[in-house]
Amino acid sequence: MAWRDVCVRGRPAGGRVRQDDVPRGSRARDHDAGGPSPGIERFIREVVVGTPALAPFKPRGFPAGLRVQTYPGRGHADVHFEGRAADVFLSFTDSKQRECGNWLFDWCVANCRAYKIQGVIFGDRQWFSEMAGGRILPRRDGQAHYDHVHIELNGDGAARR
Ligand SMILES: [Zn+2]
Repeated sequence: MAWRDVCVRGRPAGGRVRQDDVPRGSRARDHDAGGPSPGIERFIREVVVGTPALAPFKPRGFPAGLRVQTYPGRGHADVHFEGRAADVFLSFTDSKQRECGNWLFDWCVANCRAYKIQGVIFGDRQWFSEMAGGRILPRRDGQAHYDHVHIELNGDGAARR
């Protein structure tokens, strides 16, 4: 099924890229995009599979053929169901994979405007464009993000506007 744009457009609060999240209390079916968005597919193709030209430069030995999950996630009213998030499976507890996951995290923060990336989580770090002035913060949800890097785009990034 082709992606359809169900994202609620917010407004970048501080001039960066974050828009509103899925409003609390939303019904899941109102956020069912039917598939991954063009923006998240391009991000995966160009950054996860390909080698982006922008620094920080991709580490040698970044694994090919990584498992990536986008849509539908858990089928909840969230950014995965809207087709604008990707989970890239790299282990935070394996030193080589952690290096690759940390690179992906840092790349997303440094180049958030290029793909309108509004948030990224890996291991014990999280970053959201409009949270804490765009500073990287500790993530305290146990080991929920120890086996994947979570990346989410804002609605415009998903739609490639
Ligand atoms: Zn995720």
